[in-house]
Amino acid sequence: MQPHVLVVEDEDALAELLQYNLKKEGFRVTVAADGEEAMILVEERQPDVILLDWMLPKVSGIEVCRRLRSVQDTRNIPIIMLTARGEEADRIRGLDTGADDYIIKPFLMKELFARVRAVLRRIRPGLADDTVLVGDISMDRVAHRVQRNGKDVHLGPTEFRLLDYFMQHPGRVFSREQLLDAVWGSDVYVEARTVDVHVGRLRKALNVPGTADPIRTVRSAGYALNAE
Ligand code: CA
Repeated sequence: MQPHVLVVEDEDALAELLQYNLKKEGFRVTVAADGEEAMILVEERQPDVILLDWMLPKVSGIEVCRRLRSVQDTRNIPIIMLTARGEEADRIRGLDTGADDYIIKPFLMKELFARVRAVLRRIRPGLADDTVLVGDISMDRVAHRVQRNGKDVHLGPTEFRLLDYFMQHPGRVFSREQLLDAVWGSDVYVEARTVDVHVGRLRKALNVPGTADPIRTVRSAGYALNAE
């Protein structure tokens, strides 16, 4: 699954440049032109990382950062500030407010990619890499290959995306609605029961002889992949 980057930048040319380059680098990109739009977009769907310009119309970057950090659901989204040279005080204030890193304009795309990947790796170990390992399950995202205990596991595309999402957050419980939104997308209408069907298929496929069921059903809450 491609990491989702939200770019919050009111300078059109820079926003476009970032969008173009991040997409080319394999990220999914959404752009917000001001702080208010950014808050709405985050509420609709949480990005994996936010590139946040400091000087924004309506709601400033620092205010966006403060609001995101004050809410449980959005507290842990990595935020990288984009600041102009010389705004030293802003940078310090930004890190105080909870930004994870900052980058000074103008910057090289290469440097930005490195920062984004570093933040993702620190906060969501499974997301930035091509190969992920959780317990005895390994996933190669490039080769689209899954193994359990060294044996190949054959998955349909939906089960693959589902497992990918679970492997990005081992141990965390997701409701059916959260899984629908993350794996199918919020713009698709699918019944919650469909999630049960695909989790069932995933479970069956992962059930290699001699291994324990890696997926935990949490009554009235949802599903989790055991982290062990
Ligand atoms: Ca700006």
